[in-house]
Amino acid sequence: MSENIYQEALEAFGAQHQLMKVAEEASELATAALHMLDGRDAMAELAEEAADMEIILAQLRLLIGDEIDKQKTRKLKRLRATLNGMPIINRLKDRLAAV
Ligand SMILES: [Mg+2]
Repeated sequence: MSENIYQEALEAFGAQHQLMKVAEEASELATAALHMLDGRDAMAELAEEAADMEIILAQLRLLIGDEIDKQKTRKLKRLRATLNGMPIINRLKDRLAAV
């Protein structure tokens, strides 16, 4: 599918409206995740809302992609440091459980 559909949507609906959609879709994705945790059969709902989130984030990326990339790099470095600092027993717990 063409990446231009994101630009087309952004231009058709406008940045302010699509920013509102970011908030709306984030809320719907959070709700779907809670439904899963609540024991409901919500896999389809979760997948649908994740797809919505990815679509609207692709549009947000057109607006502030450089800033997103900077923050993503910073946060991935922090995640790497966190993972590296975890006790080895935690990182290997799945393997240990299989033994
Ligand atoms: Mg949605």
